[in-house]
Amino acid sequence: MAAGDAAKSINHVVVVGGGTAGWMTAAGLASMLGPTGLQITLIESEAIGVVGVGEATLPHIKLFNDTIGVDEAEFMAATSATFKLGIEFVNWGRKGDSYIHPFGEFGLPNEGVAFHQYWRKFAGDPSVGPLDDYSLPVIACRKGKFQPPSEDPRSVLSTYRYAYQFDALQYAPFMRAHAEKRGVTRLEGKVVDVALDGESGCVESLKLDDGREVAGDLFVDCTGFFGLLIEKQLQAGYDDWSEYLPADRAVAVPCKSAGPLLPYTRATAHSAGWSWRIPLQHRTGNGHVYSSQFLSDDEACDTLLDGLEGERLADPRFLKFVTGKRRKLWDRNVVAIGLSGGFLEPLESTSIYLIQEGISKLLELFPETHDCPVEIEEYNRWMDLQFERVRDFLILHYHATERDDSEFWNHMRTMPVPDSLNERLELFRAHGHVSAYEHGLFLIPSWIAVLIGQRILPNGYDSRVDGVPDDQVRGHLAGLRGHMEKAAASMDDHAAYLGRLATMSNAA
Ligand code: FAD
Repeated sequence: MAAGDAAKSINHVVVVGGGTAGWMTAAGLASMLGPTGLQITLIESEAIGVVGVGEATLPHIKLFNDTIGVDEAEFMAATSATFKLGIEFVNWGRKGDSYIHPFGEFGLPNEGVAFHQYWRKFAGDPSVGPLDDYSLPVIACRKGKFQPPSEDPRSVLSTYRYAYQFDALQYAPFMRAHAEKRGVTRLEGKVVDVALDGESGCVESLKLDDGREVAGDLFVDCTGFFGLLIEKQLQAGYDDWSEYLPADRAVAVPCKSAGPLLPYTRATAHSAGWSWRIPLQHRTGNGHVYSSQFLSDDEACDTLLDGLEGERLADPRFLKFVTGKRRKLWDRNVVAIGLSGGFLEPLESTSIYLIQEGISKLLELFPETHDCPVEIEEYNRWMDLQFERVRDFLILHYHATERDDSEFWNHMRTMPVPDSLNERLELFRAHGHVSAYEHGLFLIPSWIAVLIGQRILPNGYDSRVDGVPDDQVRGHLAGLRGHMEKAAASMDDHAAYLGRLATMSNAA
């Protein structure tokens, strides 16, 4: 940084890119820092377009929407969204298996001991049944039910959270309207040149294809896989994680809705990857994520098309990616948010969550001047942690399997995994313990869902369980199971609830 420039104030943020990441960032900045007088400009190019996939989310998105003042009914109508209580995983542990990773608890802890520990002692006993029977969101998914959770913490109906499944092409325009209302200036144009400060290497201004120049103090690179500023200009570097997650392609196609509107996403494992099925109000989103090392594009496409439940609505679209993350997500005066910062396959719907984390950490650490090495270091440390935790959780799905029916599964089952994951697996295998992360995804019930869903049953259980008489535990399990079943049956039908919400939105 030039000596005279050392204290250059941050008054103007330029966001480059108008996909989900760009408009979420602009909306977040405008809502939280607009009132401080911060000027925000977003540049996007209709000629380049957006990636246009990314339809399943995590419950954190509700917090984002609430924080920036989005009305839920309006949002659901504008993005053709449905509610999501979890993800169903089909054929992962073994072919024919199905389990749900719910956004909620399994049972209730007792005397500080996790519920699954009590369940483990009697697992296999038909009167106790599967762990799924003790999770309200799992039962609700299976029954096609949805209603917002109860705010009464004593109610079993308060033991879950929910997310959304929405049309990716409708979400960014919705965020755009929100951001523009709060003062964000949008410029249409393609960035064709970038001027860097000779000494600091910071970005000074951008040149658009019509000759306009846009100067700024801080730049947010939301240019998707292009990584226009963070990589093409600043060469921040990339940590390639394909050795653990070899999927590098996807083919996507929408189809007409068929059957009931389910409140969950489905991820079905195939011979060298998996396919998603995301039910929206007006159609179903489908895609097949696979490794080109093990499967050809044609085979991947055939598998996807063969599995469609309704009439195809467009031609299949192929996408290529390299799993990993930018070595520095914040470098000099450029912060990379969205696909420009990295990509982890959408198996657990984590990309939009990572966008949110990028935005909220940037807001929290928002610097006064360019000269902010400690903020940059903290931002990068935080985001590295977020990406690594998601990476480990994704690897778990591929590694914790008994599948041996293809070269791909033999590779995934036997490959070395990061130590951070190995340690967690060993701990769980011994006595069913999962250590809670202080920060980052995922919470303990998520790990339990996937580990047990993929047939990793601990060898033992927490010794405190034996302090409670067996009859008492059995009685409690039976009572809770019945209670969960009854509570789920009392919930609204998902489609009916959506219908009522739409009526409310129209009336408003
Ligand atoms: P893009 O949508 O690609 O936007 C890039 C923007 O930059 C565009 O506006 C473009 O015009 C602009 N731009 C680029 N270059 C220039 C230039 N030179 N000048 C001006 N403008 C420029 N995420 C989830 O959370 N859930 C999912 O279920 C999910 N599924 C996915 C499935 C697949 C196959 C893939 C690939 C991704 C998926 N994602 C998912 C990720 C999700 O799609 C992205 O995180 C999200 O769409 C954000 O994309 P983006 O805004 O970073 O990039």
